[in-house]
Amino acid sequence: MTDNKYNLGFFPTPLHPLSNLSQEYPDYNIFIKRDDQTGLASGGNKTRKLEYLIKEAIDNGYKIVFTAGAQQSNHCRQTAAACALAGLECHLIVRGTEPKTYQGNLLLSHILGAKIHFTGNDDKEIDIESFNHRIAKGEKKFIIPFGGSNIIGALGYVEAVKELKNQLTNLHLNIDYIFFASSSGGTQAGLILGLELYQLKTTLIPIKIDKDETYGLELEEAILKIVKEGTELLNIQREYSIADISVNKNYNKAAYGVLTDNERTAINIMAINEGILLDPVYTGRAFYGMLSFLKEKKLKAKSNILFWHTGGLPALFDYASGLKTI
Ligand SMILES: *Cc1c(COP(=O)(O)O)cnc(C)c1O
Repeated sequence: MTDNKYNLGFFPTPLHPLSNLSQEYPDYNIFIKRDDQTGLASGGNKTRKLEYLIKEAIDNGYKIVFTAGAQQSNHCRQTAAACALAGLECHLIVRGTEPKTYQGNLLLSHILGAKIHFTGNDDKEIDIESFNHRIAKGEKKFIIPFGGSNIIGALGYVEAVKELKNQLTNLHLNIDYIFFASSSGGTQAGLILGLELYQLKTTLIPIKIDKDETYGLELEEAILKIVKEGTELLNIQREYSIADISVNKNYNKAAYGVLTDNERTAINIMAINEGILLDPVYTGRAFYGMLSFLKEKKLKAKSNILFWHTGGLPALFDYASGLKTI
């Protein structure tokens, strides 16, 4: 099942220690998984999901792909790149009105040949179906949900657990905790399924990025829905309930995409200690959450901690003035 994909990235992504940060926090050994290095037009976690989604589109004869998101959506940028590679026509429905200058992900999506449509308002929910009727009328379109988060996309993170397990086996390493940014839920759903399927024991600490729910569903409910579909598809015997899905909601007080001192601090600490760039929307927020856990000594002493870097670099450039004050 998990071999049924269209190759878009370079895998395995590197897994390596963060030695300087581990010295700063001597109670812990800190590692990073570099999904910012998947290779697809500056990388990120959507590459893994798109390998399964694009395969599904091609296998079912689609020539046109639709997806939606914020103007600085990493998902939209990687979808544009994936479609370019696979020879599919890509339409992106993005929030807001067209800016005078394109920057960050929006600029890259444009360069990658996507046709970009602006909703004209900042409503979080985008009715992709209404665009479906207006653009390329009568043609079949493959619609990818926000963030590529459905069971097909989540398979990318089921397979990522297999990849991680192989790396850990080779390094004779156990990871006690995995921190990552959770937003539309596909990454988390895939990781939950992968940990069960490949019997890897570790604790997930997903940091919730968004303040609001999406499409009327709490994030936990959205994740549970994907996980339930996954247990059927992958023949996993375990029954999941909402109590099995945890998300940490201590760091999402500012709305989605709002840069605060938390993200600035996290971006700065990772950059000056390890020479690694985080992003202002997702990984900056998630890594701030992880730093708080380390400072407050909330984790078992001597434990091995992994930060799963999910990408987002291009968005830095759209936050130039907010980041100048670091
Ligand atoms: C989309 C995204 C996430 C969140 O992944 P979900 O599967 O939507 O929860 C995290 N980090 C970055 C950089 C992203 O682009």
